[in-house]
Amino acid sequence: MNRFSTLATVGVQQLVPYVPGKPAEELQRELNLAEVVKLASNENPLGTGVKVKAAIVAALPELTRYPDGSGFALKAALSTRWGVASEQITLGNGSSEILELVARTFVTPEHEVVFSQHAFALYPILTQAVGAQAVTVPARAYGHDLDAMLASITDKTRVVFIANPNNPTGTLLDCDAVQAFVAALPTNVVCVLDEAYYEFVDPALRCESLSWPLCYPNLIVARTFSKAYGIAGLRIGFGVSSPELADLLNRVRQPFNCNTLALVAAEAALGDSDYLAETLAVNHAGMAQLTAAFQSLGLRWIPSHGNFVAVEFEQAALPIYAALLKKGVIVRPVANYEMPKHLRVSIGTERENALFIQALTEVLQGA
Ligand SMILES: *Cc1c(COP(=O)(O)O)cnc(C)c1O
Repeated sequence: MNRFSTLATVGVQQLVPYVPGKPAEELQRELNLAEVVKLASNENPLGTGVKVKAAIVAALPELTRYPDGSGFALKAALSTRWGVASEQITLGNGSSEILELVARTFVTPEHEVVFSQHAFALYPILTQAVGAQAVTVPARAYGHDLDAMLASITDKTRVVFIANPNNPTGTLLDCDAVQAFVAALPTNVVCVLDEAYYEFVDPALRCESLSWPLCYPNLIVARTFSKAYGIAGLRIGFGVSSPELADLLNRVRQPFNCNTLALVAAEAALGDSDYLAETLAVNHAGMAQLTAAFQSLGLRWIPSHGNFVAVEFEQAALPIYAALLKKGVIVRPVANYEMPKHLRVSIGTERENALFIQALTEVLQGA
């Protein structure tokens, strides 16, 4: 019993913290294993890119200074890359911070926050942290049921979160459907379109979502440098919205929320098209490698548009997760997403995928 819990806000008292993927070093220490394969947090398996490394080294002498709190250079680069105005951009300590800023800026305990069943675990946490009421809308075939979500909007709804593609299911919504949903929302409901896996989507299926906030001033699109751009450890992401929404988020944002190394690294990552292309090629090949293995093991999976895939077992997945851990392979249980028979596996390098497949095969054969 925490003696101070009654001092915490009501929302925080009932908060269940986010459980991150198990760190590779921790497992290596615990089991004294020679090698650990971590496919648990949808990280980029290629390691830090050369351009990012060079930018970080060049910025090291400046670390006595505070970062540029306006993120001028990165916003300019994003503005050029994506054709949005700098005034529309909010930089965050990961795109998680963008989601949090929205909750803290707009949501009070009187409000409801709408999101889908099986959607990203941060949405209920952020909602609970500000003491608001979560409205979880049942999924349709593991994806968002936009009609049901629209029907769940009430006078109390202040924010709706949509993850596209969704984590941990990898499901993707049709662009016209998303746009129609945003258009149908009352303007006093802020819509967060969370596109953390945007780059992994087949180009033919990607939405022109960054152009939407000018038509829908209550929309904010969140993107990140953590996944395809490979700098999860630096913590940087961004939101694109109407300048009015950006102005409000900027009032709540800590003045130096994005650190110097993250700012220069993100700018370098944005300019490294080779790294991005290799990332997408490795992901594509790895997805084929994993799903072919699932097929031959007689397992079902949810077709995924991200850099991960949720594989389904006949029985509870937790013992399989534990058995894989013993073999030095870390994947992600998703029982907390109401998916107790699935495990989410991030796509790794060819070798990492092969080691996972071998371990999974042994586990399923009882070896
Ligand atoms: C990984 C992820 C994010 C954000 O990650 P950051 O590292 O905070 O940028 C946001 N949404 C979803 C659905 C994610 O999977």
